[in-house]
Amino acid sequence: MKMHNFSAGPCILPASVYAQAAEAVLNFDNSGLSILEISHRSKAFMSILDEAREKVLRMLGLKEARYSVLFLQGSASMEFLRVPYNLMKSKAGYIDTGTWSSKAIKEAQAFGEVAIVASSKRANYTYIPEVDVVDPDLDYLHFTSNNTIYGTQFTTIPQVSVPLVCDMSSDIFSRQLDFSRFDLIYAGVQKNIGPAGLSLVVVKKEVLGKTARSIPSMMDYQQHIDQGNLYHTANVFGVYTSLLNLRWLNDLGGIPAVEFLNNAKAKLLYEAIDSLDVVEGIAAEAFRSKMNVTFRFKNSELEKAFDAYCERENIVNIKGHRSVGGYRASLYNALPIESVQVLVQVLEQINQKA
Ligand code: PMP
Repeated sequence: MKMHNFSAGPCILPASVYAQAAEAVLNFDNSGLSILEISHRSKAFMSILDEAREKVLRMLGLKEARYSVLFLQGSASMEFLRVPYNLMKSKAGYIDTGTWSSKAIKEAQAFGEVAIVASSKRANYTYIPEVDVVDPDLDYLHFTSNNTIYGTQFTTIPQVSVPLVCDMSSDIFSRQLDFSRFDLIYAGVQKNIGPAGLSLVVVKKEVLGKTARSIPSMMDYQQHIDQGNLYHTANVFGVYTSLLNLRWLNDLGGIPAVEFLNNAKAKLLYEAIDSLDVVEGIAAEAFRSKMNVTFRFKNSELEKAFDAYCERENIVNIKGHRSVGGYRASLYNALPIESVQVLVQVLEQINQKA
């Protein structure tokens, strides 16, 4: 049965990745062993890790001499904690654009002073706030490039003179940016990378080792780097499946190619939302996310009919987050445009009948 999965995460991955991952669970690379039973210190896994890290850097246009890549356990929520542990001396700046940045702020507050340099809280995070000149003494500035819950996305990278840290969980590998502007990028892998449970961290080597704090090993980026990402048992299956997805993206033509497809998907859906009388977008137009499209029916009575249509057309996981309401269609890299076409047809039908 063909499903149209608009889940905000964990989300759809390419069908070829599912097939190869399934095959590897039964017989990894014709070794007679399952990927689930190979050692994280085996030659096979070393080569998986090396290739994954190399692909991450190449696709982001970053050099190994300057940046380290880690696949860590605990996912993005753990990075909310690891970032201040490793980078905060006394004061950091955070841009507050919703639930996930608020959670990052809460963790950082345990380590020192947090300056909220901009916030869109007063408008329930429906827009991306302007960032003025920030205090040059901040240890770093943290922001969330795409706000999964509200459907807002930064269109430009903040211009600051302090180290820049970005939670890119829900739009990494989806669009071209000058990634060398960042000192640390992290992302929970369960959107555009792989199965849930891991975070990808890309960190500029020179920003580490600047705090006098004693950092517990599992929290210490430098420790993970020094141990070749094998300080403890790696999530072998998670890293392998992430590599399969990175290979898929690479074969597709990398970030420029997928950005082209993502733009087409987002355009199709936003044009429908703007042209149909019955629906409206939730996020401010200038900051609309190309990954998570939030919308609602002007007359909430139509929701029932829409839900029934979705069920009939196998459209799943499209309900909005409880703090926003309405609906949210997530258009991550692996979602085919055909799924968006089906959704648009459903919206058109509701519009016609209303
Ligand atoms: N940051 C963002 C932008 C997210 O969307 C999410 C999860 N949806 C998180 C952080 C938290 O990720 P995790 O649940 O994997 O810790």
